[in-house]
Amino acid sequence: MRAQPAASHFVDGAFREDTAGPVIRSVYPADGSVIAEIHGATPAVLDAALSAAVRAQPDWAARRPVERGRVLLRAAEILRARNAELAELETLDTGKPIAETLVADAASGAEALEYFGGIAAAITGQTIPLGNDFAYTLREPFGVCAGIGAWNYPIQIACWKAAPALACGNALVFKPSELTPLSALALAEALAQAGLPAGLFSVVQGDGAVGAALVGDPRVAKVSLTGSVATGRKVYTTTAEGLRPATMELGGKSPLIVFDDADLEDAVSGAILGNFYSAGQICSNGTRVFVQDGIREAFLARLKARAEAIRLGDPLDPATQMGPLASAAQTERVLGFIERARAAGARLVTGGTRRGSEGCFVSPTVFADVTDAMEIAQEEVFGPVMAVLGFSCETEVIARANASPYGLAAGVFTRDLARAHRVVARLQAGTCWINSYNITPVEMPFGGVKASGLGRENGWAAVEHWTRVKSVHVGLGSVDAPY
Ligand code: NAD
Repeated sequence: MRAQPAASHFVDGAFREDTAGPVIRSVYPADGSVIAEIHGATPAVLDAALSAAVRAQPDWAARRPVERGRVLLRAAEILRARNAELAELETLDTGKPIAETLVADAASGAEALEYFGGIAAAITGQTIPLGNDFAYTLREPFGVCAGIGAWNYPIQIACWKAAPALACGNALVFKPSELTPLSALALAEALAQAGLPAGLFSVVQGDGAVGAALVGDPRVAKVSLTGSVATGRKVYTTTAEGLRPATMELGGKSPLIVFDDADLEDAVSGAILGNFYSAGQICSNGTRVFVQDGIREAFLARLKARAEAIRLGDPLDPATQMGPLASAAQTERVLGFIERARAAGARLVTGGTRRGSEGCFVSPTVFADVTDAMEIAQEEVFGPVMAVLGFSCETEVIARANASPYGLAAGVFTRDLARAHRVVARLQAGTCWINSYNITPVEMPFGGVKASGLGRENGWAAVEHWTRVKSVHVGLGSVDAPY
């Protein structure tokens, strides 16, 4: 097995095994080979991770923030030094091409560690003058938090949660997706090497049942989930029961609006990036591409030419631009969406087929003449499938773009910047792009509205979701009681 970790879990500062847990096989989706065999967490493993977190967190929170930041900055350096090896691990686990994982995965995780390591010492409260008295606020950590990850960006998701959680003085028990369990262990190792005390970042493996056990444990004060809306509903129900805060980074069916004055080549680039990067397995993808009448056929012609030039193949070959989907089940799901879109009358412009006899490859697929009522315009596919819809005017496209239960992201391509800002102001989405798409720098808050989620990751906004405010009133005069 090409990527067998030292043990299944990382708990209380060390790798830990418990073979009583169910076997989880990590599969390289390019050829179906098993690259690692691990075990899901037993109740004993989960308990050990949570007990260690409870024990370690108060001392971590009491440290000077610069010290916490320094540990994160050192961990970022370790991830950067190991980038090539981590990229290969992520490629084996997810099937994403090495050309992507070398620049997008551990590297963006390192940026999160740098950003939150850098601002750790600037996380402060306020003083509030009150005439003779005053008040101040403290930004306190929640304590022990739980993170749960999806399978598309495993180490990035782990870092986007661990870096702010730890910078703010929390402990985090993280459960990666059972499909991509490996790189979170490498992050735990890097944090330990960087000097993170034992117990503050543990990784427990397992499926939804382990996730549910983690979320339901009363020792967990806050939960951050990246996953589907269906899972989000379950997790949020559990946290609501305990009146505990939760951040939900869920799915989407985001609109990408191309006006007829847009730079056509840039708009095609945006649509391609927003549908085919990571074989389309990105939550914020602009999968409803609204193209204004007049430029639609020209847009489709360029899109077809460029989509057909995308190099699919061996993910470990640096020349490969698109790899397989992450699992056989996801491949079948995506092919099902394609078949139903054809049956519903959408016009297949390119792709639409499985590529090759083995592995989970689906060619970049574009449907035109898609209408709002079609499944392909309503449901998240999470694969390389773009739906192109027409529109005639601004008011119409805003209404149709917003007519979705989701609200994760949106994009606008136009040379008229006044229109761009006007449209973006009316779009129901947590993250918007003007003349760009899917750019998610750590400095910029990221998250959704409506069914796409709650709370924000990244940027200063994340601090507000990994801390709570304590208000302290200080009386400086005599106490005036009426009785
Ligand atoms: P999923 O919801 O199936 O699983 C996500 C995680 O939740 C996994 O670790 C899984 O084991 C766990 N889980 C499942 N049931 C659970 C339960 N009852 N309690 C606790 N945990 C449980 O999602 P997925 O298929 O891994 O990922 C794809 C989805 O994630 C897509 O909908 C995508 O849009 C979304 N996603 C969102 C973002 C974002 O930032 N908004 C980023 C990446 C992916």
